Amino acid sequence: MTSIFTLTKTLFSYLFSKPATLMYPVVPREFAEKTRGHIGINIDKCIFCGLCSRRCPAQALKVNKEQKSWEIDTSRCVICNFCVEICPTKCLFCGKKYSASYIHSPEAKMFYQQQTNK
Ligand code: SF4
Ligand code: SF4
Repeated sequence: MTSIFTLTKTLFSYLFSKPATLMYPVVPREFAEKTRGHIGINIDKCIFCGLCSRRCPAQALKVNKEQKSWEIDTSRCVICNFCVEICPTKCLFCGKKYSASYIHSPEAKMFYQQQTNK
């Protein structure tokens, strides 16, 4: 009898409380102060040493020295921050940019290439 009373009480408390989830991506989530966000790069400062790629435990990074390109697969990245810490030119950063949702992993890949004609 007590359990039915407890169940009904719990049910009504959920019926009249705010939902625990957000309408992603329509309603942006506010980031907590210490959140790491997403990895970004200032490609102009990159020297394509490949240290970040070798340090990445999730094999989320690809660096090509000849093509002067840097690529991240955000669906693999676990935001451990190792790449940011090891980068000798400090061109990597954790940003709190709100990103759109995606279903297919190719859409999670972000490709950057340094312009060579400067
Ligand atoms: S460690 Fe930094 S400088 Fe080296 S390839 Fe990665 S992003 Fe570029
Ligand atoms: S944050 Fe960690 S998992 Fe993500 S790209 Fe950098 S080293 Fe790899």
